[in-house]
Amino acid sequence: MALTVREAVPAVLAAATACYIGYDLADHGVATPVIVSVVLALLSTGVSLGIRVQQAANNVQLFTCPEQCGVEIRATNQPDERIARLRELAADHSQHPAARS
Ligand SMILES: [Zn+2]
Repeated sequence: MALTVREAVPAVLAAATACYIGYDLADHGVATPVIVSVVLALLSTGVSLGIRVQQAANNVQLFTCPEQCGVEIRATNQPDERIARLRELAADHSQHPAARS
């Protein structure tokens, strides 16, 4: 999966913010494990929020299996007929690999 510039921007912003705060904490004598924890938490939160904003901006719809077998279908800017078909596919657990094994 290729990463586009629009998809990379939230991750880069999160990384820049995390680096700045990590550097600032180190400047104030905060212990290294605490800095690492804070930076990782900031990165995780920033990337998660970025993905959500990106999905909302791209009109991404996510359909998951009601049996929670791990099947997820993401649809971006699809016509209504295709959206309905993808929703059916995600909801029909008997068609998923986990149900066949
Ligand atoms: Zn399933």
